Amino acid sequence: MKKLQHDREKCLECAGCVGLCPKMALDMHGLDLQIDHEKCVCCGLCTRGCPAGALSIVNAEAENA
Ligand code: SF4
Ligand code: SF4
Repeated sequence: MKKLQHDREKCLECAGCVGLCPKMALDMHGLDLQIDHEKCVCCGLCTRGCPAGALSIVNAEAENA
């Protein structure tokens, strides 16, 4: 299972990714990016659009290992 991961250390809080997502899975609450994993289909659009490289698609199994 793939999963979108957000690196808060790298994030510039520009909110650019929010408008990129065709599934509206991203939302900005103050300076905190929220990912709705129910909506996200891991298309990779936001990962390519992020100027800071703060978004990446990871293997959920590997993450828990
Ligand atoms: S586009 Fe990247 S830097 Fe901008 S808010 Fe989204 S994750 Fe953060
Ligand atoms: S990977 Fe695709 S579906 Fe998931 S949050 Fe990014 S743009 Fe939206």
